[in-house]
Amino acid sequence: MSPAFDPLRYRADFPLLSRRVHDKPLIYFDNANTAQKPRAVIAAVEEYYRDYNANVARAVHSLGEQATAAYEGTRDKLAAFLNAGGRDQIVFTSGTTQAINLVAYSFALPRLQPGDEILVTQMEHHANIVPWQLVAGRSGATVRAAPIDDDGVLSLDRFEALLSSRVKLAAVAHVSNVIGTANPVAAIAKLCRARGIPLLVDGSQACPHQRVDLQAIGCDFYAMTGHKLFGPTGTGALWARREHLQAMPPFFGGGEMIRTVSFDGTVFADPPHKFEAGTPNIAGFIGLGAAIDYVQGVGLDRIQAYETELLAYATAALDSVPGLRLFGRAPHKAAVLSFLIEGVHAHDLATLVDHEGVALRSGHHCAHPLMQRFGVPATARASLAFYNTRDEVDAFIIALDKVRRLLA
Ligand code: PLP
Repeated sequence: MSPAFDPLRYRADFPLLSRRVHDKPLIYFDNANTAQKPRAVIAAVEEYYRDYNANVARAVHSLGEQATAAYEGTRDKLAAFLNAGGRDQIVFTSGTTQAINLVAYSFALPRLQPGDEILVTQMEHHANIVPWQLVAGRSGATVRAAPIDDDGVLSLDRFEALLSSRVKLAAVAHVSNVIGTANPVAAIAKLCRARGIPLLVDGSQACPHQRVDLQAIGCDFYAMTGHKLFGPTGTGALWARREHLQAMPPFFGGGEMIRTVSFDGTVFADPPHKFEAGTPNIAGFIGLGAAIDYVQGVGLDRIQAYETELLAYATAALDSVPGLRLFGRAPHKAAVLSFLIEGVHAHDLATLVDHEGVALRSGHHCAHPLMQRFGVPATARASLAFYNTRDEVDAFIIALDKVRRLLA
C-alpha cells in the first residue's frame, strides 16, 4: 500500500460513509453503481440553490451571470480533467447513456446502410449495446461483439480480425463495470484509425479510477458520467472530435441550442450548445465541477496506485474463501470484483451481507451478454473506491464467511 496515501483522511470528507446500516458500520462497496459524494459537492449544490439559483445562458442579471459562470466553469474543468483539447468539445449530457445515444442517433444512424456493422465487445454495459441495436434496427446494420477470454481479457488480435470494411463504428468500454478489465483503448484507437473506423470509448468506469488523457487515447468519442466520479446524478458528458460535432445534426431541439429561429428554418448554435437544448441540470453540473476539483486534489495517479494495492489485497482475500469463483482476472483492471459462492444465489448473498453493513450489488449489472459469456445469470459485485480500506475488506470477508456457512 502506498505509504503516502491515507484513505481515512479522505473518508472524513464523505459524510455518508460514517453512517450505520443495520446497526453496523457501513461498508460501501457499490461504487461502480454510484459513488458517494464529498462534502464539497454537497455544499456546491446547496450553495447554488441557496445563494444564486438562476437559469443559465439567458439572464443578464447578476444571479444568471453567476450561475452561468459556475455552470460553464465545469466545462473548463472537465476539459482539463480529460485533456480534451477544447472546452467546445465537451457536450454536457445526463450521463453516459445519453452521450452514447447522441452518437448513435446523430452520428451513426445517418451513416449506416444495410449490411454495415457496429463492433462492440462482450463486456459492454447495456448502454453501449442497446443504442447501437436500435439504430442498427432502423438501418439494416448489425451489432457484432468481439470476444473476451476466460480471464475477461479482450484479444486485440481477434478484435482486429473483426474490423472489416463493413464496420462503420466501434464502441468499447474503457473499464468494465462487471469484471474491472481496463482495455488498451489507445491501441484499439490506433487499429480503428488505420482503417478509418470511428471509435467510441465508454469511460464511465475509467474516470473515477485512472487518469484519462483523450489526446493520448486518440478515439473519436468519449462518454462519461458524473455520479460515478463522486458528482451528482444526472450529469455527464460526451467528448467528440470537432469535425464530428460540426457534422452531426442536433439530437434534441429547443431553447439554448439555436442562433436564430424563424418559420423558414433554424440556424443552430455552434457545438457544444447545439446539442444542449433546454434548461440543464445546473446544480448538478456545478456539483460536478466541485467533484472534479476534489478528485484532482486527491490525485488520480495516487488513487490508481492505492486502488491497485487494495484490489490485490481484496483479490487474495476473496481467493481464500472456499467455493468462491471470481470473474475477471485481467492483468490490468480496476478495483471491481465480481464473484459467486458455490450454492449461494447472488441476491441472497447481497441481502445477507447487507445485514452486516456491507453494500454490494448483485444481478446482471446491465451486462446480460457478459453474464451469458460466463454462463451465469448473475454475480455479486464489490466495487471499491479510494475511500475504502483494508479493514473494510477484512470485515467484508468475515461477513461473506458468515453467509457462506449459513447458506452453502
Ligand atoms: N457504461 C458503463 C460501463 C457503466 O458502468 C454505466 C453505469 O453503470 C453506464 C455505461 C451508464 O451510465 P449512466 O447510467 O450514468 O448513464
